[in-house]
Amino acid sequence: MKANQVNAPRGAGTYRHGQVKGLHLGSIAGVDIDLDWSLLIIFALITMALSGGVLPNWHADWGQTKVLLTSIAAATLFVASILLHELAHAVVGRRFGVRISRITLFVFGGMAHMEGEPKTWKAELWMAIAGPAASLALGILFLSLAQFIAGPLDIDPEHPAEALAHVGPVATVLLWLGPINIILGLFNLVPGFPLDGGRVLRAVLWGITGDLNRSTLMAASAGQAFGWTLMAMGFAMILGLRVPVFGSGLVGGLWLALIGWFLGNAARQSYQMRLIEDRLGRLPVSRVMHHDYRVIEPSTTVQQLVDDGFLVFSQRAYPVVAGDTLYGIISMEDVRPLQRDQWPVQRVADLMTPLNRLHTVGPSTAASKALSLLAEKGVNQFPVLEDGQLLGLVTREDILKWMVLGLGGPAAPRA
Ligand SMILES: [Zn+2]
Repeated sequence: MKANQVNAPRGAGTYRHGQVKGLHLGSIAGVDIDLDWSLLIIFALITMALSGGVLPNWHADWGQTKVLLTSIAAATLFVASILLHELAHAVVGRRFGVRISRITLFVFGGMAHMEGEPKTWKAELWMAIAGPAASLALGILFLSLAQFIAGPLDIDPEHPAEALAHVGPVATVLLWLGPINIILGLFNLVPGFPLDGGRVLRAVLWGITGDLNRSTLMAASAGQAFGWTLMAMGFAMILGLRVPVFGSGLVGGLWLALIGWFLGNAARQSYQMRLIEDRLGRLPVSRVMHHDYRVIEPSTTVQQLVDDGFLVFSQRAYPVVAGDTLYGIISMEDVRPLQRDQWPVQRVADLMTPLNRLHTVGPSTAASKALSLLAEKGVNQFPVLEDGQLLGLVTREDILKWMVLGLGGPAAPRA
């Protein structure tokens, strides 16, 4: 899977990086790798499914510890496989000039955060294909390795245990990982945006029609249809029906319905975001930001801020400024936890959110980008800074105002 920062899908997928806590794993090839805590859910589910059913079935003679350790190894390698899928997107994307700064692994898989959309349909095409190609290649590699280690296997799909009983742990893990990666590659090739296959579809339509918006709409509609299909199949499974490929069962059905919901949402929002970007064009933040706000000095007491600020004006947050330099922002929420008798004593500088913890943008940042960042970080406004100097504030309303008035102008022509 692959999502642009802006269609870091909401609802099922609302992945707000500023809020959801995770683990920074390090960086590979200049790409930051983050693990979201929700990844633990899929890790636990896989470990449980393997140790509670699959492995005891294949290897009745294995002890509990051996089963558990093998399951954990398989789940870890599964996560690593997803990471390689995303890295393939990132590396190919970079060759075509699309910067990917971060990959997040979360409960529904992986997400490569693109900085802006690919500039050409060819860039989109190759970048989208790279992930599933990596998964399919991994699947074939794992199966070949398993054959190499365990020798040729003649597995009867109805009774796999007979052939697998004599296979060691390493080959067992490979025999499980191989088909899983192939399924992962094929699933992502389903032509519904924002799945990789949907991006391939959009790239092809874009190449044929030259119209990115219409291509996105068509690919996203396919994505929504696929999402609805998965949800319907999931509910059928929950009701005890048997669905081709996915089988039956409550947990599997619930999972499928959730993925369907997630995909449908992501498809809808990707399209909306595309329209917003198109409407705003290359409008920079410096054009939309507002200047009609009051600032406050770091040495002001909280009492003064309340008496002369919060109680008098509708402004809810004040930039803390000395000279021209921004030091932080103080909002009503920062003041609320403070005891009343502390108001005359405490200074604004002690309570504010300092600059190094604020998200800021530069004057040349695209307004569409600022809009998506506001949603992603879950904040109301960004200070617009140039060389530490506060130029203005930009809020969602500032940007929406321009869209409502249709002032953004069309996007620059695409190659
Ligand atoms: Zn992908």
